Amino acid sequence: MYDIIVIGAGPAGITAAIYAKRAGANVLVLYNGESNVEKTDKIENYYGFKDGIDGQTLFKNGVEQAKNLEVVVRKEEVLGIEKIDNVFYIETTLKKYDSKAVIIATGNKNLKPDVKGISEFEGKGISYCAICDGFFYREKNVAVIGNGAFANKEVEHLKNIANSVTILTNGNQIKDKITEGLNVNSKPIKQIQGENKVQRVEFEDGSGLDIDGIFIAIGEASGLDFAKRLGIAVKNDFIIVDENMQTNISGLYACGNVTGGLLQICKATYEGAKAGISAVKFIK
Ligand SMILES: Cc1cc2nc3c(=O)[nH]c(=O)nc-3n(C[C@H](O)[C@H](O)[C@H](O)COP(=O)(O)OP(=O)(O)OC[C@H]3O[C@@H](n4cnc5c(N)ncnc54)[C@H](O)[C@@H]3O)c2cc1C
Repeated sequence: MYDIIVIGAGPAGITAAIYAKRAGANVLVLYNGESNVEKTDKIENYYGFKDGIDGQTLFKNGVEQAKNLEVVVRKEEVLGIEKIDNVFYIETTLKKYDSKAVIIATGNKNLKPDVKGISEFEGKGISYCAICDGFFYREKNVAVIGNGAFANKEVEHLKNIANSVTILTNGNQIKDKITEGLNVNSKPIKQIQGENKVQRVEFEDGSGLDIDGIFIAIGEASGLDFAKRLGIAVKNDFIIVDENMQTNISGLYACGNVTGGLLQICKATYEGAKAGISAVKFIK
């Protein structure tokens, strides 16, 4: 068992791992997908780089720095977090890990596809969590918008409840192995339609699909997805933490862009340091 598992290898996650490791904890960092830092060509406002630094180099240096301190860093997409009897179980696309504490440093991601009707029908047929809302759709026809392992995890839950499950890739290619025999529709979506609740998906080519519910699971699971499943308190799409970066769940911390505020590297590293120190205090 690891002492601490950190999800995310951006400035927040790596700093958390460095502080926790140097305080004596056994730390695993799991990451998948692009950190916001990697999208940045030049950073001129972060301390200590007199000519600025490109984001890809800063990201790579951070990961190597953690590895040099013997933090275990693995490129694995996290699909879900569970807490049972004070142990956290982290499921990735490859395996399940357990730990005494978890730090969520997954950055901020826009959960919503840019499709007309999604916001309008939230809570009226649009859901972001199959485990939370799947039961409302027993014997109904549902769709999952997404194209990867995270979407497939939602499908696996829904297929035992719903009458039918269709994956809507919204014009994207399927990028991971998906459940055999599943209906997959790859057409770009124009809009979601219905009277007071979701009833139909209209595609760009004018065709349509009658549907009772739609679950959104685009790309990797985000901090908010984890929050919804675990009952972590959230405000305005950001995870709420106390001054020690702890969420409302004991042993579960969050830091960096996932907690909102100033969405900059200096704030992500500050919160990462705090989360790392707090998680070590917690496990000791
Ligand atoms: C174009 C651009 C320019 C910017 N310029 C600046 C600048 O000049 N100065 C500045 O200070 N800030 C800048 N920023 C902001 C800065 O990049 C962010 O504030 C910072 O990266 C936040 O760090 P973080 O660790 O919270 O999140 P991120 O750096 O986004 O890292 C998130 C990590 O979580 C991982 N992850 C997410 N979901 C999963 C999952 N399900 N499973 C496993 N891993 C997962 C990702 O792989 C990634 O490693 C810029 C951002 C952008 C987009």
